Amino acid sequence: MIYRVISLSKFAQKVVNSSRKFCTMQSASKQHVFVGSFVHTNERGKLITVDHGAIYVENGKINDIVINPKSIDITSENVTVLTKTQFLIPGFIDCHIHAVQLPNLGIGYDKQLLEWLNTYTFPLERKYADEKFASQVFNAVVKHTVAQGTTTACYFGSLYTKASVILGQIAAHIGQRALIGKLSMNVECADEYYETTEKSIINLKEFIKNIIELNSPLIKPIITPRFALSCDITLLKELGKLAKEKNVHIQSHISENIEEIEAVKIKFPEYSSYAEVYDAAELLTDKTVMAHGVHLTDTEIALLKKRGTSIIHCASSNTCLKSGLCDVQRLKNEGIKVGLGTDVAGGQSCSMLDAMRSTLQVSIHLSLLKTDYEALNFKDVFYLATLGGATALAMDDQIGNFAIGKEFDALIVDTNVNNGYLNDLRQYTLEEKLQKIIYSGDDRNIIEVYVSGHKVK
Ligand SMILES: [Zn+2]
Repeated sequence: MIYRVISLSKFAQKVVNSSRKFCTMQSASKQHVFVGSFVHTNERGKLITVDHGAIYVENGKINDIVINPKSIDITSENVTVLTKTQFLIPGFIDCHIHAVQLPNLGIGYDKQLLEWLNTYTFPLERKYADEKFASQVFNAVVKHTVAQGTTTACYFGSLYTKASVILGQIAAHIGQRALIGKLSMNVECADEYYETTEKSIINLKEFIKNIIELNSPLIKPIITPRFALSCDITLLKELGKLAKEKNVHIQSHISENIEEIEAVKIKFPEYSSYAEVYDAAELLTDKTVMAHGVHLTDTEIALLKKRGTSIIHCASSNTCLKSGLCDVQRLKNEGIKVGLGTDVAGGQSCSMLDAMRSTLQVSIHLSLLKTDYEALNFKDVFYLATLGGATALAMDDQIGNFAIGKEFDALIVDTNVNNGYLNDLRQYTLEEKLQKIIYSGDDRNIIEVYVSGHKVK
């Protein structure tokens, strides 16, 4: 484990309780203790706040949690003591992000999905045949998302095998936990941006082999048919078979945009719905995450629930590309596991704080349109960005909150940094501090980021 000194602003140092000490941590010991406040959720989404506690970390995992600890030697170099304005939260889990699309962040929102794909996205994605370009972009994506507190990312990579493997190498090198997807697309389109069915399967097998050979506990492959319009049923069925054979995750898009849904109906007239197409290929499993699900029918939701498949809510993208207002409360009430995605570059920000805010705003807009509708609150979106995302990715046995035996994927956040308005101008409760960070914080408030006990920011 690598730990460094906590850097404090001058103001933070002044307000620190003088009995607390800060330590230089470049410890050879494998155990480390974090002492201070922390906030997380339980599996029912309930917020848990601890004003004074200690989290013991050994070999990257949490091996003890003590509330109101009495006998910790805070002078030890293996102890990190948080200031009064700092607290620990679980790392953010971005369940849907296109690493290749970062260069398009913030442009193209004059279009809707299908036109946006053809005008902006596919031309950019073809450039990843150039490995140098791929390395440059993926370095930026991983560094930028880590800086924003994303400890786990579920990435759509490239159609190209080599570029997708490079993404895995970079995430492993920087130390971000990641699911890496090589895109599968066999429907012919302009500029040859597709693979034949045979090539698609050969390349995907090669990709999975290469990712496994990275031998990183942080990195996993995920089978990634782009969406039903990019693949024929033969390829989809082959992908379903391969996922079962290799016991790997699956991700794709579903029911994002009305025009897209109509096109799926025309392309697959033998299936009764969009979800049925994926189900016929055995792609709906309890390790499948489907992005969007804005316009799902009740029958489709029932099918997803039966299969244990999750929906990844991408509120910012659904707004930027005018896809629709996804009703997360409806999905939750029907028992669907829901995570959040930035959906870069359909979404305009890599930040999960922004994803939480977009989710809140969309939910509030729905409550304005419906009677007797309770909008999601900041505690709900905090759960969705942490343990909810872990559950959606079927990784809640490893990450998502602070529990003994789980990986120490965590953020130290501080309300007292130089972005002014969050400063500790009066006494706030821990719940209020979390609320301030969610509504008004940014990457400056995320002062340290840990993945599996390693400090990556
Ligand atoms: Zn997407």
